Amino acid sequence: MTTASTPRVAVVTGGGSGIGRATALLFAESGYAVAIWDMAEQAGHDTLQAITAAGGVAVFHRVDVSQASSTVEAAAGVRAQFGRVDVLINNAGIVRDAQLVKVRDGKVVAQMSEEQFDAVVNVNLKGVFNCTQSVVPTMIEQRYGRIVSTSSVVGLYGNFGQTNYVAAKAGVIGMTKVWARELGKYNITANAVAPGFIATEMVKSIPEKVMQHMIEHTPVGRVGQPEDIARAYLFLADERSSFITGAVLSVDGGSVTGT
Ligand code: NAP
Repeated sequence: MTTASTPRVAVVTGGGSGIGRATALLFAESGYAVAIWDMAEQAGHDTLQAITAAGGVAVFHRVDVSQASSTVEAAAGVRAQFGRVDVLINNAGIVRDAQLVKVRDGKVVAQMSEEQFDAVVNVNLKGVFNCTQSVVPTMIEQRYGRIVSTSSVVGLYGNFGQTNYVAAKAGVIGMTKVWARELGKYNITANAVAPGFIATEMVKSIPEKVMQHMIEHTPVGRVGQPEDIARAYLFLADERSSFITGAVLSVDGGSVTGT
């Protein structure tokens, strides 16, 4: 058990920007010591600075979640510095959209490349596997852990032009259900969050017209903010959420209702 002088420790992947940054800030504000794992060095340092300027405790590690050697090294670093890892927020992710095959006038004019498929699966699926496998031995040893992984509403319902992304996000749900079964006996829970449309860099390229259409089809009448997802992560990471495991929490303003 932790005490007031030894705060809970949370690893947030992709903590440099978007949802991950909002998450790192919220967890720090809520009393966690936060390890920010991100590829983007400047962004990671910016989050670190924002936390320390507000009086919080944080560390930044440059991590490529798709490389097991990188996540194993970072996990050892967190353990060396804080002595434990209580929470893992598997949030880092990328998109490389393309249709499986794009047809014009009856001819295939483009297709999703092997590179596009592999890049997304390596970060969004294998990255979640790597990070989780790197911290779970410590969680088992301390008989406590909260694993929260980022899926997406498209991992539940599919999406045009996202074979790679949807495969990875559906896979995250599958892995979450396996880990709930394998790790429950060690007081470790594993859950997934399925965000809807959230205003971050990742979705900046979406045309205004498409954005308006999405808002019209969202019952709460707005786009999600990174903080909406950060609060869902915080809830699932809470010590008192111990009876929730293997679940997928949609945080989407109700946008999938009726589809
Ligand atoms: P974001 O703003 O692009 O942030 C993602 C962060 O992850 C970036 O800092 C990125 O660094 C980092 N990253 C990328 N590849 C990495 C790697 N191999 N190792 C470590 N870090 C890496 O994205 P976001 O919108 O906040 O998305 C966060 C999560 O939510 C993702 O898993 C995403 O799929 C999911 N999600 C988002 C939405 C949405 O509407 N935004 C909806 C559903 C699900 P770089 O900047 O260097 O790439």
